[in-house]
Amino acid sequence: MSKAFASHADTEEKTVSFEKLSDNAYAYTAQGDPNTGVIIGDDAVMVVDTQATPTMARDVIRRIREVTDKPVKYVLLSHYHAVRVLGASAFEAEQIIASRETYNLIVERGEQDKASEIGRFPRLFRDVESVPDGLTWPTITFDGSMTIDLGNLEVHILHLGRGHTKADTVAWLPDQKVLFAGDLVEYQTTPYAGDAYFRDWPQTLDRLMALGPEKMVPGRGPALMNAREVHTAVAGTRAFLNDLYDLVNQGVAAGKDLKTVYRDTYAAMQPRYKDWVIFDHCMPFDVTRAFDEANGITDPRIWTAERDVEMWKTLEG
Ligand SMILES: [Zn+2]
Repeated sequence: MSKAFASHADTEEKTVSFEKLSDNAYAYTAQGDPNTGVIIGDDAVMVVDTQATPTMARDVIRRIREVTDKPVKYVLLSHYHAVRVLGASAFEAEQIIASRETYNLIVERGEQDKASEIGRFPRLFRDVESVPDGLTWPTITFDGSMTIDLGNLEVHILHLGRGHTKADTVAWLPDQKVLFAGDLVEYQTTPYAGDAYFRDWPQTLDRLMALGPEKMVPGRGPALMNAREVHTAVAGTRAFLNDLYDLVNQGVAAGKDLKTVYRDTYAAMQPRYKDWVIFDHCMPFDVTRAFDEANGITDPRIWTAERDVEMWKTLEG
């Protein structure tokens, strides 16, 4: 293989930031690694996404304890991807919340996704032995939306539509206009779209922006501290997705095979997006899924550790 598989060449430690967005909202970010959101009410704390392992999650807990001694009562999973779910046990939360569709995806493909993501991200999973056996199971599920009161603070939990996965969930603080976007929005980081719905994602972003967010914790990349930064991140995510799907769709319409479509799409997108974190990691997965969707395959095919490597050999070998 000419390029190291997935994130295998990504060995450099990242610098963590823990930023205050409002009286109740914090962002734990690390230069393009998966982010964790922290919401603090008068009675309890909610964590939005949990890091890849309990070892990594313990650093989040250390930061939380610098700003509050309230218990972490809730973990919210924005979606099922292992790299943000498998740290959950470290928080010892009373409840783990996810949309019903996310629960169903964990049933359907959680085991395969766990093995696949551990294979892709050796640095993030270097303490993989700290992950408990089995999967992380939500204890509360919801359809559409639900509200949690953390004590003088209502958190609105919303499934706005398909995008990064079938079942992405956001957390919204309406009074403070702070949004925890999960992987629906990335900033200075490449959107992973291997499990995406390219044709739905832009409309889901429309619904997300209709809430009127003025601050945001994206899935990866720095916290967005004002409406202008929010707009820039959402516009960038949208442009990447539209550019990629348009290019792949044109290739499919012209009868080209996956490898040719990949080569053409990579060459066209590289000048504009190459500096976004995990660009080389994401592109083969993103183009493979876009190729399927353009060919009428409605739901993303399940990635397994074996399928990951086969695909990489085909496109990058
Ligand atoms: Zn994800």
